[in-house]
Amino acid sequence: MKNFKKITLNENEMPTKWYNIMADMPNKPLPPLHPATKEPITPEDLLPLFPMELIKQEAATDRFIDIPEEVLELYKTYRPSPVFRASALEKAIGTSCKIYYKYEGLSYAGSHKANTAIPQAYYNKMEGVKKLTTETGAGQWGSALSFACQYFGIDLEVFMVKISYEQKPYRKMMMNTYNASVIPSPSNLTEAGQQILNQDPDSPGSLGIAISEAVERAAKNPDVKYSLGSVLNHVLMHQTIIGEEALLQMEKAGDYPDIIVGCFGGGSNFSGISFPFIRENILNGKNTRMVAIEPASCPKLTRGKFMYDFGDSVGLTPLLAMYTLGHNFVPAKIHAGGLRYHGAGVLVSQLLKDGLIEAQSKYQKECFDNGVLFARTEAIIPAPEANYAITGAIDEAKKADKEGTPKTILFNLSGHGHFDLMAYDKYFSGELVDHELADAEINASLAKIS
Ligand SMILES: *Cc1c(COP(=O)(O)O)cnc(C)c1O
Repeated sequence: MKNFKKITLNENEMPTKWYNIMADMPNKPLPPLHPATKEPITPEDLLPLFPMELIKQEAATDRFIDIPEEVLELYKTYRPSPVFRASALEKAIGTSCKIYYKYEGLSYAGSHKANTAIPQAYYNKMEGVKKLTTETGAGQWGSALSFACQYFGIDLEVFMVKISYEQKPYRKMMMNTYNASVIPSPSNLTEAGQQILNQDPDSPGSLGIAISEAVERAAKNPDVKYSLGSVLNHVLMHQTIIGEEALLQMEKAGDYPDIIVGCFGGGSNFSGISFPFIRENILNGKNTRMVAIEPASCPKLTRGKFMYDFGDSVGLTPLLAMYTLGHNFVPAKIHAGGLRYHGAGVLVSQLLKDGLIEAQSKYQKECFDNGVLFARTEAIIPAPEANYAITGAIDEAKKADKEGTPKTILFNLSGHGHFDLMAYDKYFSGELVDHELADAEINASLAKIS
């Protein structure tokens, strides 16, 4: 039992508010700009894509926002999620550090994505929306939103990055089971997709391309709205339920993290676990380091540039002030599909620029080494994305050991890898490769937008 210390919360201890970090940031993020006029966008500009309540949340400055009753009810099918002390992993790597992890893989979707899928579908339903479009990379977001839409009586169309559509047929089947239609992207259904296919008929797709397709469908059809699974302020805010719970659980454990680690795609799970602890740093004199871990083959935080860029490949979305590799950047086909995004949310980008968070990049193979070690010690087979967080936590523990100053580390285990076993199989058969990304490649991609 000592090896698997589990820190739980009761249902009635579950936080009932999301945390909006906008209230406490020393520098507010720069405003999104209209793609045509380059002027700050107005709420009306966004109405073709989102329901008013989510547009309001996107710009809200209140510190806390109440979670609606119906959302809380669905949250309680899998929340509060457990925190575990990773004692068996600690023993295996011989560290004197304490490693804790928050496990978000117990939702119906197998990841944290349900935390925002549920409220997004709910607010759309409240405003009478009948159909949503979205994109999905690894399929985690698409499957989370598929059930949420089905539950609230909304039709859903999902543009799935083609490489994932081929590598992960079970995620597609899961979405179909929840009653969503799934289209491999780039597709011929949209002008955006056709434009990409004309340039490269074999395009593996990317999240940026799939976003263009989904946004185009919503923009052209007044009955359809669009939903995004990461990056945007309201999405990051919905994920703060993770960190709010973790604060209470660490208190129950009689501990407090010196370091928080999360993997980084667009920023939602990292923000979810870290934002409430950043609040404690800003308002209550705590001094926790927040470390975002991104793939070496898609390093927007560590090698990208802070500038205005589009959120999608074709240039249909507002311009966002963020760390980016350029909206045309198509990352190598690594197996952590959820981390293959060219940019980062504006909130996390501003926080990184201001030194309130840190970023590191890791290679794919070392992450699978650590993911397998984690499975063999802690019993959970992690999503390939989560292997980056595990690696960040292990590396920080080893560094602290070397410096002779043991730390308390908390990381977010964003999802399980039950649909990703083909990637593990490739790892075991030695087929996984690390991709070196040359400066010239990043510079060429950035040159196209500056
Ligand atoms: C989508 C996803 C990610 C990456 O997205 P973020 O918005 O950066 O959290 C990480 N882990 C899992 C399991 C995912 O599904």
